[in-house]
Amino acid sequence: MPTTVDKNLCIGCGACASICPDAFKINEEGKSEVVRQENSGCAKNAAESCPVQAIKVE
Ligand code: SF4
Repeated sequence: MPTTVDKNLCIGCGACASICPDAFKINEEGKSEVVRQENSGCAKNAAESCPVQAIKVE
């Protein structure tokens, strides 16, 4: 299952991109976007650190 970001929930805090820049970046709309599916575990850490639980890592 892919890593996803719910853009309706994302508040653009930047935490995920800072924790896991391989997988997330903040786009032109100021929201997080998945740039690469990765399995190193940092996407999971980012999901746990998201203040609005917008990231799903399956
Ligand atoms: S941590 Fe959550 S709210 Fe913050 S930019 Fe990432 S997806 Fe958006």
